[in-house]
This record gives sequence, C-alpha cells and structure tokens, in this order.
Amino acid sequence: MSDKSILFQQAAEKIAFDTEHRQKISFNIGKYDQAVVSGKQRYVQLELAKQRAANVKHKTLMQLDKYLVEFETNFIRNGGKVIWARHADEAVRQISAILTKEKVTKVVKSKSMTTEEIGLNEHLEKLHIDAVETDLGEFIVQQAGEKPYHIVTPAMHKSKQDVADLYHLKFNLDEHSTPEEITAYTRKILREEFQSAGAGITGANFILADVGGITLTENEGNAIMSVAYPKIHIAVVGIEKILPSVEDLDLFWPLLATHGTGQHMTVYNSIITGPSANKFGPEQMFVVLLDNGRSDLLSKVKQRSALSCIRCGACLNACPVYKNIGGYTYDTTYSGPIGSVITPHLKSMNDYKHLSFASSLCGQCTEVCPVKIPLHELLLLNRADAVKEGWTLPSERFVMKTATRVLKKRSMLDMTSGSTKNLVLKYFFKKQWGPRRTMPELAKKSFSELWREQNGK
Ligand code: SF4
Repeated sequence: MSDKSILFQQAAEKIAFDTEHRQKISFNIGKYDQAVVSGKQRYVQLELAKQRAANVKHKTLMQLDKYLVEFETNFIRNGGKVIWARHADEAVRQISAILTKEKVTKVVKSKSMTTEEIGLNEHLEKLHIDAVETDLGEFIVQQAGEKPYHIVTPAMHKSKQDVADLYHLKFNLDEHSTPEEITAYTRKILREEFQSAGAGITGANFILADVGGITLTENEGNAIMSVAYPKIHIAVVGIEKILPSVEDLDLFWPLLATHGTGQHMTVYNSIITGPSANKFGPEQMFVVLLDNGRSDLLSKVKQRSALSCIRCGACLNACPVYKNIGGYTYDTTYSGPIGSVITPHLKSMNDYKHLSFASSLCGQCTEVCPVKIPLHELLLLNRADAVKEGWTLPSERFVMKTATRVLKKRSMLDMTSGSTKNLVLKYFFKKQWGPRRTMPELAKKSFSELWREQNGK
C-alpha cells in the first residue's frame, strides 16, 4: 500500500464521520442540485446536446495535433505568443522567466485549476511575486491558507459563518458580516490589486483553433479585470481544452453553465484572441499549452475520452463518495470521479491507484456528465492498469491467483465445506471489508451439493 493510499484512508475515515462537514456539503450540493434540475429543463433535447458535445470532443481529440497547430498559427497571427510545456516544471519555468524579465512583483489570478496543477503560486512565492486570487471563492481559500476544495466551487466546504469568522480574523470585519458585506469588502480590496498588478494569469475554459483565441467563463467579472488592467496576460491551459471552432461555443457554453451551476448561461463569457490592439488591455499575451501527462492519456485508446472533460464539476456533486469524504481527502488538484480517473495518468499510477477504488461504481458520475465520459468504466480500466503494471501487493496477487484457480474448478470449490470457506473469507478479507460491514456468509451447502440432494445425481 502506498503512503498516499494510507493517508487517504485515514483522512476518509475521519471526515466521513464529521457531521458538521457533512451538513455544509449537503446544504451546498443541495442548492446546486435544485438549480441544475431547473437549468436542465430549458433543454428540449438534452441527451442530443450531450451526444453532440461528446462527438465534437472525440473528433477533436482524434486530431489534437492538427487543431493545436491551427490555434498556434492563428494566435501568433493575432500577435500572441504560444509556449508549449511538456511538464509542469517547464510551464513554471517559462512563466517565471516572463515575469522576471518584465520585473513583475504582483500578479492577479482568476480561477484556474491548471495553475493549481503546476503549483504556480508556490513557485511565485519563492520568486517573491505576490499571487492574488481574485475569484471570491479562491480568495477565501487563499486567505484561509487552503487549496480549492472543488473544481468549480473552491470554498464549498465553508458556511457563511465560517467565512465571516475568517474575515473577522484576517481583516477585522464584524464577525456577523453578511455575504453581501463580505463581497463588497473583497471587491474593494481587489480593485486596488487589479490596478497595481504587473500581470494577469488566467486559465481558459476552451481554446479555439479557427480564430486563434481562448475563452473565459465566469460569474464575477474578475477574469476580465485580471486581463484588462495588467499589461501582460498569461493563460495556462491544458492541451485537451481545444475546440475546432468558435461556432462550437453555442453548444458548449450552455452545457458548461447548466452542468456547472445550473445557469442557462454563465454571466460573463469572453473570447480573447491576442494582446490588445489599442492602449487599453494587455500589451503582451501568452498562452501556455500544457501537456503534463495528457499525451500519455491520449495514447490509451479506451481511456482517452477522459480528456473530453470540460471541468463542469457535475460528477463531483453527484458522487456519493465525494459527498461523504469531501474534496481535500483526495489530496489531488482534480478531485471526485474525474480526478480519480485522470490523476493516476497525470501523476503516478502507483501513488494514486487507490482512487480508482474510492467508488461505489454506481454510475451517477457517468449519468450526469455533459460530454458522456464513461467515468465509472474508466475507473475499472485504471484498476486493470494498476494490476497490469504490477502495482499490487504480492499478498493480493497470491490471493487473487489462488481464488481464480479455485473458482474455475467446481471440484476444488467443493473440496471444502461452507464453514471452512467462511473461515477463509474472514481470515483473508475481513480487513479489506472494513470494520463497519458484516462479512457476507456463504451457504453451508454448495450449489452442487444441493443439486445432488434434489436431483439425486
Ligand atoms: S468528467 Fe464530465 S461531469 Fe465530471 S467535471 Fe468533467 S465534464 Fe463535468
């Protein structure tokens, strides 16, 4: 068992019985569920839209190289610069080089899980560059010294009172401040940060090949502000985010909004195709195209559909395991079902294979996914990969080998009585079965014994 697997089990054991945590998550996901139900009703043919989106993503992934080069050509023509980063450290190195060259001491960031993936903030801190998160949820978790809890709702684990307490502690605001007062206070702080930052760093929801641009989807306007004020804009994007055409957005924008928050459309949707052509906005714009294990996942024919993900977060909200153990237990940038599927490929199968087992395989995640990723099936494929790559324990291999031999032969199965089999189950599997479930009891008589008794042969 890897260290990460042990830590995961310990953290899950603890948080699953934290009733306060459970209440907060149930409350927030409950509100999300209500919004999504009414959001989906606006679709006349939701299944058709989902199938179309899945087809577009599949087609795009099959020609990823073509579309990425098309984007690069068009974006450079628009005046932008493209940086190809094979790994997280390459991306960080290149971003650091730009900021150092331009003598930037402060950056404003709009919510980006890709920058979390490459650990950008930690590296900027080493360079003494202030990285200010400007999405309200991200700002809250940054002030609390925490990481995002959820890919769409970073502060989902905090109640209104938790946030009021935090602002009281950090900014001496009244401990009974309302969400409106907290938002207004944050807005005031961030206005000054936008105006004094040397660079704006964003992710991108989509990359558009035909126009050579990126898109930003948000509800607060902080992403536009992060782009509009500073003289440099750096967007860090996974290569799988590409869409062939700006025309695909009429399908993907509503799907992302509906499945992400239950809105028909997110409040602000921007398409940015390069640096500003006039004196307003960024003079330089860079797009960092991040691979970081995505090509390896693309090479796996059965698993590449995981790259279709548009990071709507719906599978997290639907997952009974996520609802019990919460976002931090995963100890990964991307949590929930999609995180369990992609993290072993983006990081290490040995360290993160245990996530494939953190699933009831109920299929809820697959059901809600707007791009029809068969998430629960991909979890099974990860389990198979872990076995094929030899990451299982020798004791597990021995038990499985023996079980296979016995289960394949009726004569061997019938060699021992039901009570002996129950003893074997108890001895070998009790620990894995866990302390809170009763071990299933095998029947005293086997099927063939019963058959012989009833049919006389
Ligand atoms: S896997 Fe599907 S449901 Fe989960 S975040 Fe990605 S697009 Fe949304």
